[in-house]
Amino acid sequence: MKKIFFTPGPAELYPTTFKHFQKGFQTGVASLSHRSREFREIFQEVTTDLKKFLQIPDDYYVFFTGSGTEAIERTIQNCVEKYSLHFVNGAFSKRFYQSAIELGKKPSLIEATAGDGFDLQNLSIPKKIELVCLTHNESSTGVMTPVYEIELLSKKYPEKLFALDVVSSVPYVNVNYKLFDVVFFSVQKGFGLPAGMGVMIVSKRAVKKSKELVKKGISIGSYHGFPTLMSSAKKNETPETPPVLHMYVLKKVIKDMTKIGIEKIQKETDLKAKLLYEFLDSNKKFSAFVTNPKFRSKTIIVVDIQKAKGDIRKILADKGLLIGSGYGKNKNTQIRIANFPAHSVQDVKRLIKELSLV
Ligand SMILES: *Cc1c(COP(=O)(O)O)cnc(C)c1O
Repeated sequence: MKKIFFTPGPAELYPTTFKHFQKGFQTGVASLSHRSREFREIFQEVTTDLKKFLQIPDDYYVFFTGSGTEAIERTIQNCVEKYSLHFVNGAFSKRFYQSAIELGKKPSLIEATAGDGFDLQNLSIPKKIELVCLTHNESSTGVMTPVYEIELLSKKYPEKLFALDVVSSVPYVNVNYKLFDVVFFSVQKGFGLPAGMGVMIVSKRAVKKSKELVKKGISIGSYHGFPTLMSSAKKNETPETPPVLHMYVLKKVIKDMTKIGIEKIQKETDLKAKLLYEFLDSNKKFSAFVTNPKFRSKTIIVVDIQKAKGDIRKILADKGLLIGSGYGKNKNTQIRIANFPAHSVQDVKRLIKELSLV
């Protein structure tokens, strides 16, 4: 039985991912030296194609990390001397805040209750804050913050650095990159690759800040500092031995997605989300955890399952449909359904049908 992974990450592979890995193994990409011309071509192509696909301005850098969590740590290390501000509405945004504490910074936080969003228009950010950190799509609670509201906030505070976690909403989210200094994701969610690589999109201003910290004698870590990543990237290289095969496959998947068109992918995501929420709103056993439509995530749908009988995840798994458990303390009372480009409308309809039979 073919399994479909609706888990929020690792998730269902993009339909072409396997084929590209196979080709990469067959043609020796997996053993390619990262100091070779062939590698530099892959580096250059994946960054150029990503920039085109997501409409990232030319003067931004693309850095490769090991994961989204690494990107969180690098963002704090390279952009904060003391004060970051974190909008916390779940486990991933909390991790961002926690990371700043563990790195010896003095972060502040603005918290929203689980399942709710922020009122970003009516707040003022203290002068001392250097970096503002937001998680666009909180994967633990299924809350998606409207990106235009985040962008308005960034416009209001042009002197501050802004970091945006789009790990579980790329390529659905339309970001105006000019308003951000660090935007990051990892490849095992919306891009449908196996886990093992993160991507950071970084402004010149953020690199400058990082250099200023070094000048002041503040540690930015010894691994993956922005200045080193930048000087390597300028040569189409990475400081360390990178996951070359992942970079190659990401390049291929971006080409495939580009052929379909990002707008079509986004529209289809909207349609699948609409089908899922309409089902949840009309069903007695299941309900969407996020009630305010404004904050409902299109890419990770969190569902309350207290009224349903039996082990929902097991019942669906027996049909080949793998769904995520609730996050943390909601492990047994919620399920999480990923809605990524790898999931077809037909897959989602099948999932809805099986849920309706529970
Ligand atoms: C998954 C996730 C992360 C962590 O990414 P890893 O690649 O697993 O380290 C961070 N933020 C959000 C919103 C996520 O969904």
